[in-house]
Amino acid sequence: MREVNRSLVLDLIRAGGTVSRASIARSTSLAKPTVSAIVDELLAEDLIKEIGVGSTAGGRPPILLQFNARSQLVVGAHIGARKTTIAIADATGSELTRRELPTPSGQPDETLATVATMIVAATTDEGVGLATISAVGVVVPGLTDFHTGICTLAPNLGWRDVAVGGPLSARLGAPVYVHNAGQAAAVAENVEGIGCGIDDLALLYAGTGLSAGVIAGGRVLHGAGGTAGEIGHCAVPGLADRCACGRVGCLETVASGRALVAAVHRAVAGGRETILAGRRDFDGREVASAADQGDPVAREAVAELGRYLGYAASWVINAYSPAMVVIGGGLAAIGEPLLATVRRVALEHCPEPSARGVEICASQLGVDVELRGAVLLAMQHSETYYRVVFRA
Ligand SMILES: [Zn+2]
Repeated sequence: MREVNRSLVLDLIRAGGTVSRASIARSTSLAKPTVSAIVDELLAEDLIKEIGVGSTAGGRPPILLQFNARSQLVVGAHIGARKTTIAIADATGSELTRRELPTPSGQPDETLATVATMIVAATTDEGVGLATISAVGVVVPGLTDFHTGICTLAPNLGWRDVAVGGPLSARLGAPVYVHNAGQAAAVAENVEGIGCGIDDLALLYAGTGLSAGVIAGGRVLHGAGGTAGEIGHCAVPGLADRCACGRVGCLETVASGRALVAAVHRAVAGGRETILAGRRDFDGREVASAADQGDPVAREAVAELGRYLGYAASWVINAYSPAMVVIGGGLAAIGEPLLATVRRVALEHCPEPSARGVEICASQLGVDVELRGAVLLAMQHSETYYRVVFRA
Protein backbone atom coordinates (compact mmCIF):
# COMPACT_ATOMS: atom_id res chain seq x y z
CA MET A 1 0.00 0.00 0.00
CA ARG A 2 2.84 2.32 0.95
CA GLU A 3 4.50 1.75 -2.46
CA VAL A 4 1.22 2.43 -4.25
CA ASN A 5 0.70 5.67 -2.33
CA ARG A 6 4.27 6.69 -3.07
CA SER A 7 3.79 6.08 -6.78
CA LEU A 8 0.50 8.02 -6.74
CA VAL A 9 2.20 11.02 -5.16
CA LEU A 10 5.26 10.84 -7.42
CA ASP A 11 3.11 10.47 -10.55
CA LEU A 12 1.05 13.48 -9.54
CA ILE A 13 4.16 15.61 -9.05
CA ARG A 14 5.65 14.35 -12.33
CA ALA A 15 2.48 15.13 -14.25
CA GLY A 16 1.42 18.25 -12.40
CA GLY A 17 4.37 20.56 -12.96
CA THR A 18 4.19 22.31 -9.61
CA VAL A 19 1.97 21.16 -6.78
CA SER A 20 1.84 21.51 -2.99
CA ARG A 21 1.43 18.97 -0.18
CA ALA A 22 -2.14 20.18 0.38
CA SER A 23 -3.11 19.91 -3.30
CA ILE A 24 -1.66 16.37 -3.40
CA ALA A 25 -3.75 15.41 -0.36
CA ARG A 26 -6.87 16.81 -2.06
CA SER A 27 -6.22 15.05 -5.40
CA THR A 28 -5.33 11.67 -3.90
CA SER A 29 -7.66 11.67 -0.88
CA LEU A 30 -4.65 10.61 1.21
CA ALA A 31 -4.30 11.93 4.77
CA LYS A 32 -2.05 15.01 5.04
CA PRO A 33 0.47 13.30 7.39
CA THR A 34 0.76 10.40 4.90
CA VAL A 35 1.44 12.85 2.05
CA SER A 36 3.97 14.76 4.16
CA ALA A 37 5.86 11.57 5.05
CA ILE A 38 6.02 10.49 1.39
CA VAL A 39 7.08 13.97 0.25
CA ASP A 40 9.86 14.03 2.87
CA GLU A 41 11.08 10.66 1.63
CA LEU A 42 11.05 11.79 -2.03
CA LEU A 43 12.86 15.03 -1.07
CA ALA A 44 15.53 13.02 0.81
CA GLU A 45 16.03 10.87 -2.29
CA ASP A 46 16.28 14.00 -4.45
CA LEU A 47 13.49 12.72 -6.72
CA ILE A 48 11.56 15.96 -6.17
CA LYS A 49 12.53 19.45 -5.06
CA GLU A 50 10.94 22.44 -3.34
CA ILE A 51 10.82 25.43 -5.66
CA GLY A 52 9.40 28.25 -3.51
CA VAL A 53 6.04 29.27 -2.12
CA GLY A 54 2.70 29.65 -3.85
CA SER A 55 0.00 32.25 -3.38
CA THR A 56 -2.77 31.87 -0.83
CA ALA A 57 -6.09 33.47 0.04
CA GLY A 58 -5.07 33.38 3.70
CA GLY A 59 -3.10 31.27 6.13
CA ARG A 60 0.35 29.79 5.56
CA PRO A 61 1.43 29.91 1.88
CA PRO A 62 2.01 26.41 0.39
CA ILE A 63 5.51 25.21 -0.50
CA LEU A 64 5.52 24.20 -4.17
CA LEU A 65 7.04 20.89 -5.26
CA GLN A 66 8.43 19.86 -8.62
CA PHE A 67 9.74 16.61 -10.08
CA ASN A 68 13.53 16.68 -10.28
CA ALA A 69 14.05 15.37 -13.80
CA ARG A 70 17.84 15.44 -13.45
CA SER A 71 17.83 13.29 -10.32
CA GLN A 72 17.76 10.12 -12.41
CA LEU A 73 19.46 10.09 -15.77
CA VAL A 74 19.00 7.42 -18.39
CA VAL A 75 21.33 6.45 -21.21
CA GLY A 76 20.45 5.10 -24.63
CA ALA A 77 22.97 3.46 -26.95
CA HIS A 78 22.42 2.24 -30.49
CA ILE A 79 25.16 0.05 -31.92
CA GLY A 80 24.39 0.17 -35.62
CA ALA A 81 26.11 -1.61 -38.48
CA ARG A 82 27.81 1.64 -39.53
CA LYS A 83 27.64 4.03 -36.60
CA THR A 84 27.25 3.91 -32.84
CA THR A 85 25.24 6.62 -31.11
CA ILE A 86 24.67 7.32 -27.44
CA ALA A 87 22.39 9.80 -25.68
CA ILE A 88 22.21 10.96 -22.07
CA ALA A 89 18.68 11.98 -21.08
CA ASP A 90 16.90 13.13 -17.95
CA ALA A 91 14.15 11.13 -16.23
CA THR A 92 11.55 12.50 -18.65
CA GLY A 93 13.53 11.31 -21.68
CA SER A 94 14.63 14.78 -22.71
CA GLU A 95 18.18 14.55 -24.09
CA LEU A 96 21.05 16.47 -22.50
CA THR A 97 23.61 15.36 -25.05
CA ARG A 98 24.22 12.95 -27.88
CA ARG A 99 27.48 11.47 -29.30
CA GLU A 100 28.21 9.53 -32.47
CA LEU A 101 31.19 7.50 -33.74
CA PRO A 102 31.73 4.99 -36.55
CA THR A 103 31.09 1.49 -35.11
CA PRO A 104 34.52 -0.08 -34.43
CA SER A 105 35.18 -2.95 -36.81
CA GLY A 106 37.22 -5.06 -34.36
CA GLN A 107 36.25 -7.51 -31.65
CA PRO A 108 32.93 -7.09 -29.77
CA ASP A 109 34.75 -6.20 -26.53
CA GLU A 110 36.42 -3.26 -28.31
CA THR A 111 33.02 -2.04 -29.49
CA LEU A 112 31.55 -2.32 -25.99
CA ALA A 113 34.59 -0.57 -24.49
CA THR A 114 34.06 2.27 -26.99
CA VAL A 115 30.38 2.55 -26.01
CA ALA A 116 31.32 2.70 -22.30
CA THR A 117 34.00 5.32 -22.99
CA MET A 118 31.53 7.45 -24.98
CA ILE A 119 29.04 7.33 -22.09
CA VAL A 120 31.65 8.13 -19.43
CA ALA A 121 33.02 11.05 -21.49
CA ALA A 122 29.52 12.44 -22.12
CA THR A 123 28.53 12.29 -18.44
CA THR A 124 31.83 13.94 -17.44
CA ASP A 125 31.29 16.75 -19.98
CA GLU A 126 27.75 17.25 -18.68
CA GLY A 127 29.04 17.50 -15.12
CA VAL A 128 26.99 14.54 -13.89
CA GLY A 129 28.37 11.44 -12.21
CA LEU A 130 27.86 7.86 -13.37
CA ALA A 131 26.00 7.34 -10.07
CA THR A 132 23.12 9.45 -11.43
CA ILE A 133 22.47 6.94 -14.22
CA SER A 134 19.50 4.79 -13.26
CA ALA A 135 19.40 2.62 -16.37
CA VAL A 136 21.04 2.08 -19.75
CA GLY A 137 19.16 0.85 -22.82
CA VAL A 138 21.24 -0.76 -25.57
CA VAL A 139 19.91 -1.57 -29.02
CA VAL A 140 21.74 -3.91 -31.39
CA PRO A 141 20.87 -4.94 -34.95
CA GLY A 142 20.31 -8.63 -34.31
CA LEU A 143 18.82 -11.30 -32.08
CA THR A 144 18.91 -10.43 -28.40
CA ASP A 145 17.95 -12.19 -25.20
CA PHE A 146 16.50 -9.55 -22.92
CA HIS A 147 16.84 -11.67 -19.77
CA THR A 148 20.57 -12.43 -20.13
CA GLY A 149 21.60 -9.28 -22.03
CA ILE A 150 23.26 -11.45 -24.67
CA CYS A 151 23.21 -10.67 -28.38
CA THR A 152 22.89 -14.16 -29.83
CA LEU A 153 23.36 -13.21 -33.47
CA ALA A 154 24.09 -9.95 -35.29
CA PRO A 155 25.42 -10.76 -38.78
CA ASN A 156 25.99 -7.07 -39.60
CA LEU A 157 28.33 -6.75 -36.63
CA GLY A 158 29.81 -10.24 -37.01
CA TRP A 159 28.55 -11.07 -33.50
CA ARG A 160 27.47 -14.45 -32.17
CA ASP A 161 26.66 -14.99 -28.47
CA VAL A 162 28.16 -11.71 -27.32
CA ALA A 163 27.48 -10.69 -23.71
CA VAL A 164 26.46 -7.02 -23.95
CA GLY A 165 24.57 -6.22 -20.75
CA GLY A 166 27.00 -7.78 -18.24
CA PRO A 167 30.25 -6.13 -19.40
CA LEU A 168 28.61 -2.72 -19.91
CA SER A 169 26.89 -2.88 -16.54
CA ALA A 170 30.24 -3.71 -14.87
CA ARG A 171 31.89 -0.68 -16.52
CA LEU A 172 29.03 1.77 -15.87
CA GLY A 173 27.70 0.56 -12.51
CA ALA A 174 24.09 0.71 -13.71
CA PRO A 175 21.62 -1.89 -14.95
CA VAL A 176 21.82 -2.39 -18.74
CA TYR A 177 18.85 -3.59 -20.79
CA VAL A 178 19.52 -5.06 -24.23
CA HIS A 179 16.90 -5.04 -26.98
CA ASN A 180 16.69 -5.64 -30.68
CA ALA A 181 15.93 -2.81 -33.11
CA GLY A 182 12.32 -3.94 -33.66
CA GLN A 183 11.49 -3.76 -29.95
CA ALA A 184 13.17 -0.34 -29.66
CA ALA A 185 11.40 1.08 -32.69
CA ALA A 186 8.04 -0.20 -31.41
CA VAL A 187 8.55 1.52 -28.05
CA ALA A 188 9.66 4.78 -29.69
CA GLU A 189 6.67 4.87 -32.06
CA ASN A 190 4.39 3.97 -29.12
CA VAL A 191 5.67 6.74 -26.85
CA GLU A 192 6.42 9.59 -29.22
CA GLY A 193 5.60 8.51 -32.77
CA ILE A 194 2.63 7.51 -34.88
CA GLY A 195 1.34 5.03 -32.27
CA CYS A 196 1.42 7.53 -29.43
CA GLY A 197 -1.01 6.43 -26.71
CA ILE A 198 -1.98 3.17 -28.43
CA ASP A 199 -1.57 0.38 -25.86
CA ASP A 200 -1.55 -2.52 -28.31
CA LEU A 201 0.67 -2.09 -31.31
CA ALA A 202 2.97 -4.20 -33.49
CA LEU A 203 5.87 -2.87 -35.53
CA LEU A 204 7.52 -4.73 -38.39
CA TYR A 205 11.11 -3.51 -38.56
CA ALA A 206 12.21 -4.04 -42.14
CA GLY A 207 15.84 -3.07 -42.57
CA THR A 208 18.69 -5.29 -43.69
CA GLY A 209 16.78 -8.08 -41.91
CA LEU A 210 13.27 -8.33 -40.45
CA SER A 211 12.15 -8.32 -36.83
CA ALA A 212 9.07 -7.17 -34.96
CA GLY A 213 8.31 -5.32 -31.75
CA VAL A 214 5.04 -5.96 -29.95
CA ILE A 215 3.56 -3.55 -27.42
CA ALA A 216 0.91 -5.31 -25.34
CA GLY A 217 -0.97 -3.33 -22.71
CA GLY A 218 1.51 -0.46 -23.04
CA ARG A 219 4.64 -2.57 -22.36
CA VAL A 220 7.08 -4.13 -24.78
CA LEU A 221 6.77 -7.91 -24.97
CA HIS A 222 9.98 -9.84 -24.15
CA GLY A 223 8.65 -13.38 -23.77
CA ALA A 224 9.99 -16.18 -21.57
CA GLY A 225 13.17 -16.52 -23.63
CA GLY A 226 13.58 -12.76 -23.95
CA THR A 227 13.69 -12.99 -27.75
CA ALA A 228 10.09 -12.06 -28.65
CA GLY A 229 9.59 -10.52 -32.07
CA GLU A 230 11.97 -12.56 -34.24
CA ILE A 231 9.32 -12.93 -36.91
CA GLY A 232 11.94 -12.85 -39.68
CA HIS A 233 12.92 -16.40 -38.79
CA CYS A 234 9.45 -17.88 -39.17
CA ALA A 235 9.54 -20.45 -41.96
CA VAL A 236 7.70 -19.84 -45.22
CA PRO A 237 7.11 -23.12 -47.11
CA GLY A 238 8.63 -23.21 -50.57
CA LEU A 239 11.59 -20.90 -49.99
CA ALA A 240 15.07 -22.21 -50.73
CA ASP A 241 17.53 -19.47 -49.71
CA ARG A 242 19.68 -19.75 -46.60
CA CYS A 243 19.11 -17.10 -43.95
CA ALA A 244 21.77 -15.26 -41.93
CA CYS A 245 20.64 -17.43 -38.97
CA GLY A 246 21.77 -20.56 -40.84
CA ARG A 247 18.32 -21.99 -41.58
CA VAL A 248 16.61 -22.36 -44.92
CA GLY A 249 13.23 -20.80 -45.71
CA CYS A 250 13.12 -17.90 -43.24
CA LEU A 251 10.68 -15.06 -44.02
CA GLU A 252 13.61 -12.64 -43.78
CA THR A 253 15.14 -14.11 -46.95
CA VAL A 254 12.22 -12.62 -48.91
CA ALA A 255 11.11 -9.68 -46.73
CA SER A 256 14.13 -7.48 -46.00
CA GLY A 257 16.61 -5.12 -47.60
CA ARG A 258 18.85 -8.10 -48.26
CA ALA A 259 15.95 -9.78 -50.10
CA LEU A 260 15.41 -6.71 -52.32
CA VAL A 261 19.08 -6.78 -53.33
CA ALA A 262 19.00 -10.54 -53.97
CA ALA A 263 15.88 -10.18 -56.15
CA VAL A 264 17.61 -7.58 -58.36
CA HIS A 265 20.76 -9.74 -58.67
CA ARG A 266 18.60 -12.72 -59.72
CA ALA A 267 16.81 -10.61 -62.35
CA VAL A 268 20.14 -9.32 -63.73
CA ALA A 269 21.50 -12.90 -63.88
CA GLY A 270 18.37 -13.83 -65.82
CA GLY A 271 19.11 -11.14 -68.41
CA ARG A 272 16.58 -8.52 -67.26
CA GLU A 273 17.37 -4.84 -67.75
CA THR A 274 17.51 -2.52 -64.78
CA ILE A 275 19.24 0.74 -63.92
CA LEU A 276 21.00 -1.19 -61.15
CA ALA A 277 22.66 -3.61 -63.61
CA GLY A 278 26.45 -3.48 -63.56
CA ARG A 279 26.47 -2.22 -59.98
CA ARG A 280 27.84 -4.64 -57.43
CA ASP A 281 27.37 -2.65 -54.30
CA PHE A 282 23.85 -1.35 -53.62
CA ASP A 283 21.46 -1.76 -50.73
CA GLY A 284 17.71 -2.14 -50.22
CA ARG A 285 17.20 1.61 -50.06
CA GLU A 286 18.75 2.03 -53.52
CA VAL A 287 16.44 -0.66 -54.91
CA ALA A 288 13.54 1.27 -53.36
CA SER A 289 14.72 4.48 -54.99
CA ALA A 290 15.08 2.69 -58.38
CA ALA A 291 11.49 1.48 -57.98
CA ASP A 292 10.46 5.05 -57.31
CA GLN A 293 12.08 6.06 -60.61
CA GLY A 294 9.93 3.44 -62.39
CA ASP A 295 12.54 0.70 -62.84
CA PRO A 296 10.43 -2.43 -63.58
CA VAL A 297 12.79 -4.93 -61.91
CA ALA A 298 13.00 -2.83 -58.74
CA ARG A 299 9.21 -2.35 -58.79
CA GLU A 300 8.62 -6.08 -58.93
CA ALA A 301 11.08 -6.59 -56.06
CA VAL A 302 9.22 -3.99 -53.96
CA ALA A 303 5.86 -5.60 -54.78
CA GLU A 304 7.22 -8.98 -53.68
CA LEU A 305 8.55 -7.41 -50.47
CA GLY A 306 5.10 -5.90 -49.85
CA ARG A 307 3.44 -9.27 -50.36
CA TYR A 308 5.62 -10.99 -47.74
CA LEU A 309 5.38 -8.08 -45.30
CA GLY A 310 1.60 -8.37 -45.82
CA TYR A 311 1.76 -11.99 -44.68
CA ALA A 312 3.84 -10.92 -41.67
CA ALA A 313 1.30 -8.20 -40.85
CA SER A 314 -1.53 -10.77 -41.01
CA TRP A 315 0.40 -13.03 -38.61
CA VAL A 316 0.85 -10.31 -35.99
CA ILE A 317 -2.77 -9.15 -36.42
CA ASN A 318 -4.11 -12.69 -36.00
CA ALA A 319 -1.74 -13.47 -33.11
CA TYR A 320 -1.82 -10.24 -31.07
CA SER A 321 -4.87 -8.22 -32.16
CA PRO A 322 -3.04 -4.88 -32.25
CA ALA A 323 -4.89 -1.63 -32.95
CA MET A 324 -2.08 -0.60 -35.28
CA VAL A 325 0.65 -2.26 -37.34
CA VAL A 326 3.55 0.08 -38.05
CA ILE A 327 6.00 -0.63 -40.86
CA GLY A 328 9.36 0.63 -39.62
CA GLY A 329 13.06 0.29 -40.44
CA GLY A 330 14.85 1.70 -43.48
CA LEU A 331 12.38 0.18 -45.97
CA ALA A 332 9.43 2.06 -44.45
CA ALA A 333 10.68 5.06 -46.45
CA ILE A 334 9.25 3.41 -49.60
CA GLY A 335 5.89 4.60 -48.27
CA GLU A 336 2.57 4.15 -50.04
CA PRO A 337 3.70 1.83 -52.89
CA LEU A 338 4.78 -0.67 -50.22
CA LEU A 339 1.99 0.02 -47.72
CA ALA A 340 -0.79 -0.47 -50.26
CA THR A 341 0.41 -4.02 -50.96
CA VAL A 342 0.96 -4.77 -47.26
CA ARG A 343 -2.60 -3.65 -46.43
CA ARG A 344 -4.21 -5.60 -49.27
CA VAL A 345 -2.37 -8.87 -48.50
CA ALA A 346 -2.77 -8.54 -44.71
CA LEU A 347 -6.53 -8.04 -45.02
CA GLU A 348 -6.80 -11.01 -47.40
CA HIS A 349 -5.32 -13.23 -44.70
CA CYS A 350 -7.21 -12.07 -41.62
CA PRO A 351 -10.79 -13.03 -40.74
CA GLU A 352 -12.82 -9.83 -40.93
CA PRO A 353 -13.35 -9.41 -37.14
CA SER A 354 -9.59 -9.71 -36.50
CA ALA A 355 -8.68 -7.03 -39.03
CA ARG A 356 -11.56 -4.67 -38.24
CA GLY A 357 -10.28 -1.19 -37.48
CA VAL A 358 -6.59 -2.18 -37.56
CA GLU A 359 -4.52 0.62 -39.02
CA ILE A 360 -1.45 -0.27 -41.10
CA CYS A 361 0.85 2.71 -41.49
CA ALA A 362 4.47 3.77 -41.87
CA SER A 363 6.75 4.71 -39.00
CA GLN A 364 6.77 8.43 -38.20
CA LEU A 365 10.08 8.84 -36.39
CA GLY A 366 13.18 9.41 -38.46
CA VAL A 367 16.59 7.82 -38.56
CA ASP A 368 17.17 8.01 -34.81
CA VAL A 369 14.19 5.82 -33.89
CA GLU A 370 16.48 3.08 -32.49
CA LEU A 371 18.35 5.52 -30.25
CA ARG A 372 15.11 7.09 -28.98
CA GLY A 373 13.83 3.57 -28.36
CA ALA A 374 16.99 2.81 -26.34
CA VAL A 375 16.46 5.94 -24.20
CA LEU A 376 12.75 5.23 -23.68
CA LEU A 377 13.37 1.57 -22.81
CA ALA A 378 15.95 2.63 -20.21
CA MET A 379 13.36 5.05 -18.85
CA GLN A 380 10.62 2.42 -18.69
CA HIS A 381 12.92 -0.03 -16.93
CA SER A 382 14.29 2.55 -14.49
CA GLU A 383 10.79 3.65 -13.52
CA THR A 384 10.23 0.28 -11.88
CA TYR A 385 13.09 1.14 -9.53
CA TYR A 386 11.34 3.99 -7.86
CA ARG A 387 7.77 3.52 -8.85
CA VAL A 388 5.29 0.67 -8.73
CA VAL A 389 3.54 0.35 -12.05
CA PHE A 390 0.00 0.72 -10.87
CA ARG A 391 -2.78 -0.06 -13.30
CA ALA A 392 -6.39 -0.06 -12.11
ZN1 LIG B 1 16.54 -17.08 -40.20
